Amino acid sequence: MRPLIAGNWKMHGTLREAGALAEAVRAGATAGLPADLLVCPPFPHIHIVAAAMLGQTVAVGAQDCHAAGKGAHTGDVSAAMLRDIGATHVILGHSERRADHGETDAAVRAKVEAALAAGLVPVVCVGETEAQRLAGEAEAVVEGQLAGSLPDGFAGIVAYEPVWAIGTGRTPTEDDIAAIHGTIRAALVARFGPAGQATRILYGGSMKPGNAKAILALAHVDGGLVGGASLVAADFLAIAAAAG
Ligand code: PEP
Repeated sequence: MRPLIAGNWKMHGTLREAGALAEAVRAGATAGLPADLLVCPPFPHIHIVAAAMLGQTVAVGAQDCHAAGKGAHTGDVSAAMLRDIGATHVILGHSERRADHGETDAAVRAKVEAALAAGLVPVVCVGETEAQRLAGEAEAVVEGQLAGSLPDGFAGIVAYEPVWAIGTGRTPTEDDIAAIHGTIRAALVARFGPAGQATRILYGGSMKPGNAKAILALAHVDGGLVGGASLVAADFLAIAAAAG
């Protein structure tokens, strides 16, 4: 399937910097690129980035949404609001949100349902900690997160992001990535049938231009979720070019 390279801009940049980064990505998103592109700015920058990408091939997403459609939830943002300002995707269950905000699998699942109801494509993150990997629990942890975070009828994207590889410059071995992606594929197919076969599974964790080609060539790696390197347009585009 056609790969997707998604950029998670996290909590970085000014409005002006977001606009410049969006413009640079848009300019580099040429027809020959072998991957679809998605950028996920912080909430206050989504609108301007979506406007810059309007009519272009680069999709725009958010990094979280609330599980409720509306209501008394001070400081939160609904999926419908994101859709209203031009987002088409939303990252959910990122390990930083699971850690910083205590998001459980059940909470992530409720957000995924809200995103789907609002017409957003959820990008659901799973991944083990270093202690869990050292204890030989990586596959079981990921299977448990998938079972708990994905609702019945899931139609979205899954991102495998080992927590210990995020922002550290460390990555699992290619064999380890391939093994977990195979496990994720098997779990998706067992639960969702043909839809599980067609679900994109992204790898995330210190993906850079230098390691992208080898990772993106692995079986059941259907793209990447890129943090740090997505803040430099040339690096982000080089990763997308490596998907070919
Ligand atoms: C991420 O947080 O989604 C991520 C993959 O970050 P980085 O690429 O910086 O490791």
